[in-house]
Amino acid sequence: MDRIQIIKRTKLFLEIAEKFPEFRYLGDPILKNKTRAVPIKEGIEIGNKLGQILIEYQKIAGIGRGLAAPQINIAKSVFVTYLNGEIQIYINPKIISKSKKLNYYRELCLSCGTMWADIKRSDTIRMQWKDKKGKIQEQEFSGFVARLIQHEYDHLLGISDLDKAEPKTIEFVTSDPLKETLRPA
Ligand SMILES: [Zn+2]
Repeated sequence: MDRIQIIKRTKLFLEIAEKFPEFRYLGDPILKNKTRAVPIKEGIEIGNKLGQILIEYQKIAGIGRGLAAPQINIAKSVFVTYLNGEIQIYINPKIISKSKKLNYYRELCLSCGTMWADIKRSDTIRMQWKDKKGKIQEQEFSGFVARLIQHEYDHLLGISDLDKAEPKTIEFVTSDPLKETLRPA
């Protein structure tokens, strides 16, 4: 156990909790309930807000590739991803299929503090959603992006990653989360 790393991450957590009063954490009912679909205009507004907050968060935390509306106290079906310097907005998403092929990954969540856990998820998914122009999109995702999307989508269902932790895998984060890799299940 790396005590110094635990202290470092806990201090960062405190800094973030102070800087982002809108963030919600495990135990908050909003993270346990299903969200509602939104009219497109409202979805775009929420998506833009999520995007701005996520960019701001990543600057401070050095990590953070997704954010869902309930995490900022909005019970609506919108989440964003932030990959390769680009925010993508997913409004009223629906995962329509999931592969039987699964993998493991140690997931972090800004709503779950400084602990992570092994979570088993599908390797490939197919999802439908409305984009930032209100256009219906449908796409297949695999690998890390599929993982990220399933994590954010779960928030819209009232599920946080630690709810799905494999037994005895909840641990304090003591290594670089950006070096995590998918492992076959
Ligand atoms: Zn999360």
